[in-house]
Amino acid sequence: MKFNSKLIHGGISEDEATGAVSIPVYRASTYHKPFLSSNLKWEYSRSGNPTRAALESLMADLENGADAFAFSSGSAAIHTVFSLFSAGDEIIIGKDVYGGTFRLANQVMKRFGLKFTVVDTRKLDEVSAAIKPGVKAIYLETPTNPLLEVSDLAEIAKIAQEKNVLMIVDNTFASPYNQKPLDLGADIVVHSGTKYLGGHSDLVAGIAVVKDEKIAEKLAFLQNSIGSVLSPDDSWLLMRGIKTLGARMRIHEENAQAVIAYLLQSKYVKKVLYPGLKTNPSFEIAKKQMKGFGAMISFELADEYQVADFVNKLRMISLAESLGGIESLIEVPAVMTHGFIPREIRLKNGISDGLIRLSVGIEDKEDIIADLDQAFKSLD
Ligand SMILES: *Cc1c(COP(=O)(O)O)cnc(C)c1O
Repeated sequence: MKFNSKLIHGGISEDEATGAVSIPVYRASTYHKPFLSSNLKWEYSRSGNPTRAALESLMADLENGADAFAFSSGSAAIHTVFSLFSAGDEIIIGKDVYGGTFRLANQVMKRFGLKFTVVDTRKLDEVSAAIKPGVKAIYLETPTNPLLEVSDLAEIAKIAQEKNVLMIVDNTFASPYNQKPLDLGADIVVHSGTKYLGGHSDLVAGIAVVKDEKIAEKLAFLQNSIGSVLSPDDSWLLMRGIKTLGARMRIHEENAQAVIAYLLQSKYVKKVLYPGLKTNPSFEIAKKQMKGFGAMISFELADEYQVADFVNKLRMISLAESLGGIESLIEVPAVMTHGFIPREIRLKNGISDGLIRLSVGIEDKEDIIADLDQAFKSLD
């Protein structure tokens, strides 16, 4: 099956018990055992739940993995994946990973003895040099947030395999519609299902997909032991969102193209960051490893002191954290998602005070552009 058919028919697409084409929400916490000796598939819903299992098998199918696991948030998925490691183990971590991932690494996992070394994963020689004895994994995102920088997954996978370390990729920004890290050599993919997978800004969820049965066994053990599982209701909602991922992404990207063309000719905009622009340093690698370039755009205002005036004037586009929803969402990383990073470090990393991140929604593109246009014109 091709990808868009898999979105709808992949995994367990019908309820085994009734044939219902929409998997029912099984809210039961426990399951009746006919005999003491009965060895049942379902015993207790933290260990396994039919609705969650349908979502997990769908995600394994979409990322071409051996197995998948659903969690109560992207952060819970990442926490459980980090729990594969033990005190003293070192993990190489990309320099622009999600802020919550940094917080989890530095303020939580470090206290349990894990060590983290930050590397710019676009630089392969630096990745290679950082993998010293004691390093057990490399963890990265591509494209990154909010600068949309791209790292070469196939080349990093070669290094990881050579040095015998696990490669973990947060695929939230690209979604499996545009990028399949396991096919390029990664071992584990994580997602915030809250973003493009769910797609409607109406749930918080996380996913981990693994390539290999052995890691799957370990992660199944950890999922059950730590217990940060996704509820049956949210599993159902996430599955429902995933079915339209392809349809949504096509419109997201068509709209993003129109918005970029508009921003590029605007006198109010100094710089547009998008891996799909031929002038962007990430363009060639993005073209090689992604099916499309997505609908996340960052741009800098010509006058960075006008950022607040600009975003406050928007009418349809929502000023909000998060991304990947059907509605266009805009945010100012320096004040919002990346506000906790000290200013000097933030500026050094390329996140200026005037940077704006736009998650282009699936409204009519003319309306998105008209909203940007009226907000820009109000600055005169
Ligand atoms: C939002 C996000 C996360 C965290 O996911 P939650 O569902 O909010 O816990 C992790 N990685 C990326 C890239 C994200 O955008």
